[in-house]
Amino acid sequence: MFYKTKRARDRRKELHPRVHFLGAARAVTPSLHLLEIPGDGKRWVCLDSGSSQEDTIAIERRLPNGLSPSKLNAVILSHVHNDHVGGGPRLSKLGYSGPFYCTEPSNDLLKTIWPDSGAIQQKDARRFKTPLMFGEQDARMALRQLRPVSMGKRFSPVPGVAAEFLSASHLLGAAQTLLEIDFKGGEKRTLLYTGDLGRPGMPCLDDVAPVKYADYVICEGTYGDKLHNDLDPLNALADAVNRAYGLASYPDKKRGYGAILIPSFALGRAQTVAYYLRLLRQQGRIRPIRVAMDSPLAINITEVYRRHIHDFNRSDRKQAKHCDLFSLPGDIECRTWEESAKLDKPLSEPTIIVSSRGWGNGGRVTSHLLSRLEHPGNTVIWLGHQGEGTPGSDLTAGARSIYIAKHKLNVKATIEHLEGFSGHQDQREILDTLSRFKRPPRKLFLVHAEEAPATVLKAKIEKRLGCEVVIPHRGSHFDLT
Ligand SMILES: [Zn+2]
Repeated sequence: MFYKTKRARDRRKELHPRVHFLGAARAVTPSLHLLEIPGDGKRWVCLDSGSSQEDTIAIERRLPNGLSPSKLNAVILSHVHNDHVGGGPRLSKLGYSGPFYCTEPSNDLLKTIWPDSGAIQQKDARRFKTPLMFGEQDARMALRQLRPVSMGKRFSPVPGVAAEFLSASHLLGAAQTLLEIDFKGGEKRTLLYTGDLGRPGMPCLDDVAPVKYADYVICEGTYGDKLHNDLDPLNALADAVNRAYGLASYPDKKRGYGAILIPSFALGRAQTVAYYLRLLRQQGRIRPIRVAMDSPLAINITEVYRRHIHDFNRSDRKQAKHCDLFSLPGDIECRTWEESAKLDKPLSEPTIIVSSRGWGNGGRVTSHLLSRLEHPGNTVIWLGHQGEGTPGSDLTAGARSIYIAKHKLNVKATIEHLEGFSGHQDQREILDTLSRFKRPPRKLFLVHAEEAPATVLKAKIEKRLGCEVVIPHRGSHFDLT
């Protein structure tokens, strides 16, 4: 289009919505994208408000120059992993007073997760003298700003924008967000933000909802250069537990029966493991071993899962009418440290201990590793990717001696490593998801991926969909023309 003057061109440009990439750009964390809606009185909508432990830049310092949290009009949360929601209470503490839109299960999960995160941060700030981003009370105040919306129901985060949540699998309540943005002159543009995309067939969750049309897409690409192995996680877990049971079922005079330790993240992973262990025992594919869920946060989150059976996929919804999907009679829940410590004493029967954290770097699992690693009869089953430099990474690489909490341990326990527990789609699955577009988007932005996987995936998407793919830098912005 030809404009007579620069001013006219600038005015036209002003009418275009703009998206700013402020986090998870050429990196996997933290997710923070900002939609700038032009018009009389600009409006600002955040897509996610993530933070992470490794994040050295506070969320407010990621916002464009001169934009304070108090100027934001709405925040839309895709799902409740910390790298997508962990900066929310910080925004509120610094003056953001608008709504946090999220799905109903996300709303209930955040009531547990944000205060828990605030309490941990307070403890860490006291112990390590680190700056406090927000405390438990700040988190509780931010909960008042939550605005739950049902999947598939349209809502308007700001005038001129309509939005809708669609299943993203990945985690209970995880959603893609489809936005429809008004232009002056009655035109509209659609923008799909995928959030994190989960794999097909996840327990309890619906598969990723297909989206057929979107002008622009912000898509995750965590595993853009990888293919998950084809092992079925349920079968792999059954085999590993059966092998471990063979070792755990011969009592040692001093130490009793062996333990099968499964380090798991409290959110999502612990519920998947509990679901699989219940199913395997019910089907008689593993022995009726008791399971101890050793994490108060995981117990509370499982309670939220139980309250949201109506949000499960159809077959699990039906199943849940007849049984508890996450435990069997005789299983144990350890809320207190005393209950947890009992699991380190001689066991009267073989016991599966599901304990956080998933990489073994801190949390209650540390004391179980200290008491169990040096004795045969115990097995540790590590699930999925193990972060570099963590006990999980060292042990799965074959270390036979290791320092845990400054104690040197000679590893005599059996170490198992099961892949296929990822909550993210791999390259082939992302391409399959995107192939459901009836018309290629005008432009697709790849986020939530390191540069190397993003570059590989960009070439694949361009070839398959024939659309332009951009890997944005942090701080860059694009007009949705
Ligand atoms: Zn996630």
